[in-house]
Amino acid sequence: MIKAWIKFLAAAVFSLLLLCSCSRDMTEQENSPYTVSFFAMDTYMEIRVYGERAKEAAEAAQAEILRLDGLLSVSSESGDVAKINSFGEGKLSGDTAALLEMSLELYENTGGAFDVTVGPVMELWGFRDGNYRVPSSEELSQVLPLVDSEKIDYGSAERTVKLGEGQKIDFGGIAKGFASDRTAEILRNAGVSSAWISLGGNVQTVGGKPDHSRWRIGIRDPKGSAESYLAVVSVENQAVITSGNYERYFIDEETGKRYHHIIDPSDGLPSDNGLASVTIVSDSGVLADGLSTSLFVLGVEKGADYWREHRGEFQAVFVTEDGKIYITEGLEACFTSDREYEVIR
Ligand code: ADP
Ligand code: MG
Repeated sequence: MIKAWIKFLAAAVFSLLLLCSCSRDMTEQENSPYTVSFFAMDTYMEIRVYGERAKEAAEAAQAEILRLDGLLSVSSESGDVAKINSFGEGKLSGDTAALLEMSLELYENTGGAFDVTVGPVMELWGFRDGNYRVPSSEELSQVLPLVDSEKIDYGSAERTVKLGEGQKIDFGGIAKGFASDRTAEILRNAGVSSAWISLGGNVQTVGGKPDHSRWRIGIRDPKGSAESYLAVVSVENQAVITSGNYERYFIDEETGKRYHHIIDPSDGLPSDNGLASVTIVSDSGVLADGLSTSLFVLGVEKGADYWREHRGEFQAVFVTEDGKIYITEGLEACFTSDREYEVIR
């Protein structure tokens, strides 16, 4: 009888120990992410995935981003975009067609502030090959008629496209958001409930943090170093995507003037309306990316009007060159900053 009790007790203690060690393993797995980092779409990318299926999900997401990069990059010769740009016409894959449709819709909605035919102007400034130069006004006026999405002939039924003579499309303002949406979708389909995706500083989140709190995403100080933040937004399941004049630029040696890579399609010049950055918070990464570029070109006032018409779709943070911060109403509860800021209603 006593023997049986001892056996039972020993078994109970053993099971308890086993249970403890299992739950410790589970917790460790949940708290430390499986991380992949790599270079794609001209930038550094990092995906941190938590939970049991982290490794295979993260690796599948990375493979998909590399595939999209090949498809959408202006320099990847076998991809859709490079082919359309060199032949002027062709048939698009489903992904490229979806991105073009989204781009054309943004062109319409933003009154042309977002224009995917900005390619020839990007080339002229040297943003494609790194041979930066300030073009003359004659050169600019020659290529400017090519920046016009109205000239794209797109047939959605067959996914065929024909560009105007000399036109080139450039998805640089929207492709990373498309890729982060796809990444989030792959992770969710794999059963992942917590992940942080950063594609060149553009963040998208799956769920909240492993401890169920919200992700805290820093908004960079345009005047500070890469590590200095002027605000934090707390989100879950959302994209937080920034366009800033400090992200890609060159300085003209003669004049010391700085030229950045977000172009105002109305004059072909780097957009110069007093804004230093625009951050968009949205459920949709592709919308957030497209709008960060668009609202950067529109400026604070027109950007605020755009938000008033589409307030169910996104929220925004505007930071001006002289350090003013404006946030849209929907961010009030999840925005923190030591600086003063004004709320757009
Ligand atoms: P980042 O690539 O730094 O995240 P953006 O999302 O604002 O920043 O994208 C800037 C890129 O968008 C440029 O490098 C260029 O490829 C493209 N682009 C520049 N101006 C425009 C514009 N007005 N409309 C659409 N795309 C643009
Ligand atoms: Mg963008």
